[in-house]
Order: sequence, then structure tokens, then C-alpha cells
Amino acid sequence: MSQTPSRADTAPLAIRRVDPIAVVLPLKKPMFMGGGQRFDHAQTLLVRIEAGNGLVGWGEASAAPTMTGDLLPGMVAAVSDHLGPLLVGRNALERARLGRELAVAIIGNTGAKAACDLALFDLAGRHLGVSIVELLGGAVRDSVLTMCLLGNPDIAQDVADANAYRAQGYDCFKLKVGVKRVEDEIEAAFAVRKAIGPDALLCADANMGMTFAHARRYVTGTVDAGLAFLEQPFRDYDLNATAALARVSPLPLCADESAHSLENIVEWRRAGAIGGANLKTIKLGGTAATLRTAVVADSLGLALVLASKIAESSIGTAGLVHLGYCMPNLDWGINPTSHYLAEDLVRAPLTPVDGNSARPDGPGLGIEIDESAVARFRARL
Ligand SMILES: [Mg+2]
Repeated sequence: MSQTPSRADTAPLAIRRVDPIAVVLPLKKPMFMGGGQRFDHAQTLLVRIEAGNGLVGWGEASAAPTMTGDLLPGMVAAVSDHLGPLLVGRNALERARLGRELAVAIIGNTGAKAACDLALFDLAGRHLGVSIVELLGGAVRDSVLTMCLLGNPDIAQDVADANAYRAQGYDCFKLKVGVKRVEDEIEAAFAVRKAIGPDALLCADANMGMTFAHARRYVTGTVDAGLAFLEQPFRDYDLNATAALARVSPLPLCADESAHSLENIVEWRRAGAIGGANLKTIKLGGTAATLRTAVVADSLGLALVLASKIAESSIGTAGLVHLGYCMPNLDWGINPTSHYLAEDLVRAPLTPVDGNSARPDGPGLGIEIDESAVARFRARL
């Protein structure tokens, strides 16, 4: 067998066109988060990159006004006016070089950059006949702990959901807190712990919705419920309050809205504020950037979560799952969100089985896009 790569592997893969597509997808039921946020629909950006040879790669990123500040019209404009023109005519196989150029082509807009980056991975993988896991250097684990969210207005419904998820094999649960009275939230932690048993991972995410008194009472009041961590009790900039809480908290704190960048994560770790971080490609600007951040976070001894925002379709989920298999120190699991959608954009939607998210088979993302569904849910901005 020849050791010389075929021309198909080494020839440039010219990018012919880059299209941003805004979609709005209905959720199965409303989600409630800290600070009184309610979500009925998912707003998400797709990026479709077409090569000169006709191959197409897809990427996705959620609009996240309270996390990245990205809004759908702005994400579309970032791709159509800045990122897309930079990519057209370039070699899609030079992802590292293109990633560096995308990072500085426009300030912020990490969601739009992440969608472009994922589409480049998908396109390169389809061209080379390998999965994104293989493009990232291979898997470091055989399964990924998959988290489900409990975000109902009342405790009985959280318990009912927990029981239903437990019956499906899930063993990683996140309570949305910072919404109700603190004593009700403590009661919910104990009720859910009772429902899921002593061994399942249980954590809580306040999405910046707590006061210091609320958070302090919550972390001390839930000690015997065995929470693994409390995520983002305070506003994204509030390092001092988070470090002060960490000094009295019996459980580690996790940064999410505060973890905008690798630099933030290093700073908050050095200040003693966090024991872990929730990584999202939409915050860090892409799959490659998130893996680099994960490697540094691992060297700092941080536990990690890898999550989508509420909610991405199975396009984003496939990217999340591939990355999750390659990230070190994914102690706190991954949080895909496509199974919260009433409608999806792929032929075979990805659904966790027995609490695990299997790696999609096939090159690139390993999924088949349903372009008629993409057209049906396309948003008129
Ligand atoms: Mg969070």
C-alpha cells in the first residue's frame, strides 16, 4: 500500500460560499432560569459552508443574549459581512490558520465564529472521510456523562422529571435555581436527591440569579443533599462575591457566564473563586478554542462541564458530543440540549441513550441535515 497521501487528501479544498441561516425552533415545554428568564423557543444560527467540489459542512451556535450578548440578526451580519467573506476562496483544510484569522476579524461575536469553526470541521471531516473526534486527535473516553436539566416552577414536577429521566438511565442532573424562595430550592434539592438516589451526580445552576445571602444559605442548607457544585450564583463580573462565597462554601463553585475566555478562567482560578468551569463553544469561539481552553483548565485542576445553550439542534449537539469525547477532565459531564426541542434539523435526531451520548458515526459531524426542515424553520429577520 502506498505511503503517499492521495491527491484528494492534500489538494486545497476551496470554499465556494458561506451562508448564515437564522432558525427559530419550538421547545417541547418552556424552560425557566435564574433572573426570571422564560424560554419557549430556541433561536439559533446555522452556518452552511460549501466547497468547490460540492461538499457541504454545517455549523450551529445559539443566540445567547444573557451569555455572549449575541443576537440572531447580529450573528447573521457577522457571518455575511465579516467572517464569510474572509473564508470564501480559502482552503477549508487550513482550519488552524483560518481560526486565528476569524478570531481577530471582528471583536466578540464568538457564537458566529463558533458556528463557522464547526462548519469547517464538518466540511474537512467529510472531505477526508474522518469524524471530528479523529480531527481533534482522538477520543480520551468511551462514554460521556450526559446531564439533564430540571427547571420547573414547582418541586413535584422537578421530582417527576427526575424520576422519568432516571428511568431512562440518566445519572447526572442539574437543578435550575435562583428563581424561587431559597427554602423551596433547598427542599427541591433534597426531594430530587431522594428520587435519583445517592450515586447520581446532582448540581445546581443559578444563572446569575442569586443574592449573596441566598447563595450562602443554599450552599450550607443543601450540604446533606450532596450537590457536586453550584454554578454561577452571581453576575458575570462579580469575582469578589464569588471568591467570598467560595471561602465559606462546602461545595465547589463553577463559572459559566463568567467564563468568557481562557483568561477569565485562569484569573478566577487564581483568585480561589472556582473549582470548575462550564465551557461552551459559543463563548470561546469554536471547537478548537474550547479544546485548547479545556487542556489549560485541566492543568489548573479544574473540573469541567461542556454545554450547549437552550437549545441547539442535533447539528450543534453532534459538535458538542465529538468535542466531549476528546476533552480532558470532563468530570461534570456534557449538557446537550437538542432533546428539549419539539422539532430538529437532521434526519436522525441525536438522543442520549441510557444516560450516555454516543458518538455519531460517519465523517465530519456524522449526521444528515434535513434541508427541508432548515427551510421550514428559517427565521425572517
Ligand atoms: Mg450555566
